[in-house]
Amino acid sequence: MNQLPKCGANYVPLTPLTFLKRASSVYANRTSIIFESTRFTWSQTYQRCRRLASSLLSLNIHKNDVVSVLAPNVPAMYEMHFAVPMAGAVLNTLNARLDAKNVATLLRHSEAKVFFVDYQYVPVALEALRLLMDESQQNQALLPLAIVIDDIDSPTGVRLGELEYEQLIQMGDPKFVPDEIQDEWDPISLNYTSGTTSEPKGVVYSHRGAYLSTLSLILGWEMGVEPVYLWSLPMFHCNGWTFTWESPHAVGRTVTHMCCAPIIFNILIEAKPHERGEISSPVQVLTGGAPPPASLLEKMESLGFHVTHAYGLTEATGPALVCEWQAKWNNLPPDSQARLKARQGISILTLADVDVKNIETMESVPHDGKTMGEIVLRGSSIMKGYLKDPEATSKAFKKGWFITGDVGVMHADGYLEIKDRSKDVIISGGENISSVELESVLYRHPRVLEAAVVAMPHPRWGESPCAFLAVKENECGGKDDVTEADIITYCRKNLPHFMVPKKVEFVPKLPKTSTGKIQKFQLRALAKTFQIT
Ligand code: ADP
Repeated sequence: MNQLPKCGANYVPLTPLTFLKRASSVYANRTSIIFESTRFTWSQTYQRCRRLASSLLSLNIHKNDVVSVLAPNVPAMYEMHFAVPMAGAVLNTLNARLDAKNVATLLRHSEAKVFFVDYQYVPVALEALRLLMDESQQNQALLPLAIVIDDIDSPTGVRLGELEYEQLIQMGDPKFVPDEIQDEWDPISLNYTSGTTSEPKGVVYSHRGAYLSTLSLILGWEMGVEPVYLWSLPMFHCNGWTFTWESPHAVGRTVTHMCCAPIIFNILIEAKPHERGEISSPVQVLTGGAPPPASLLEKMESLGFHVTHAYGLTEATGPALVCEWQAKWNNLPPDSQARLKARQGISILTLADVDVKNIETMESVPHDGKTMGEIVLRGSSIMKGYLKDPEATSKAFKKGWFITGDVGVMHADGYLEIKDRSKDVIISGGENISSVELESVLYRHPRVLEAAVVAMPHPRWGESPCAFLAVKENECGGKDDVTEADIITYCRKNLPHFMVPKKVEFVPKLPKTSTGKIQKFQLRALAKTFQIT
């Protein structure tokens, strides 16, 4: 067998761009995008993307140049996920809730050449560009070319510079044939971490990583042949967990699939029946980004949603683990099912490996569901690295494993359960307390709407848990009847005593990031001001 032909002539780099080309033939006249009164078919979407890519090239965009976008989930945002890499450039979607200073910082860091801005964000963009102009000592040439995306249904006429998105599409060549990707490790997109725990870092995804992650979701989430995907998750969050590149694989008619952070469950569960309406057929919901409390999973299932739980992070091109359902769990009571589903699960199809290790020795911890260690990942969908930050990139990996910064346990069945972010673990009298575990108990209290537990300095224990709660109204519209003592008594009944919060603080709502994550750093700062004796 030493005469085997070598791989060569038939090698085609992996890229999700091929999905769109295929959809434009297979589903040419089927609907690709529905947005207000706008409808596109897959052949139109493909053509619009090719036009835009050719226009970008005529604007002197070169390979690996960064194209930034500040926009909500509008058709342009979707199209750019294909058009920008078709032009060989790198798509950088910016969090639409950032202020001008942060936008300026990221534009500067990424050295963006073009900056697309939805008309609603023109004031923020103008201020960001002004800040950049001041820094560059009025050297216009150092600024990105700003292009507005006007409302596609009812254009407002708001402008930012001379060009407008639809104009670029019209100017473009509908027959443009993009150059083939030369190397599947070439960058496709740049996503800044949301900065929940540190300064935002620019995570670079490759065509290969995006392709493989997307494939995992298509196969693993059993999307069937005619899914209709509701864009509730912002596309600026890890490229919509890579669903931006996934949709061309199939199309259908009524909403069948959606992704959202667990915090959105609360909105659906608490909605009045007339606001919520009826679900005619089950909707598949992929949730992740934060731990979904088992009690919320159980309620969502009872409303007709089929929830799949995934765990991931920006550095892993979105979802990295999924809690694959086992048929043997079908006959368990709903609360046991929800508890099993609240575990983060096993690696997605295209991730090579996941483990829980002792971070010092890099030895695996026993798979006993008890011993905590660092969650580590390995595989193609892990980022290439951080933009312009080799030090942070090399720190993020140890012996080929990506260090997530999360602490978890591995169960005997190979399913992983996250216990905390390493920064959120509460160390009380030498015992590790998982804030996630404590929160899941609090969420089972009938009056708790939102819960977050953080460490609070304690003179005797070093740290102790402090619970921040937003509570539901009673029948008379009041909230004051739930007291700190009630919650502590409830916790004493349901938790080992060392885990019981030493302080309970009621708040109208918890501070959250744009992707629905609770900003624990804010709560920690507040907890530091509490006096415990
Ligand atoms: P940021 O780190 O700025 O919050 P990311 O979106 O990358 O932005 O967040 C990834 C983190 O979110 C993970 O490291 C983990 O702590 C948390 N996370 C994601 N999915 C889950 C999940 N299913 N359960 C628990 N925590 C999760």
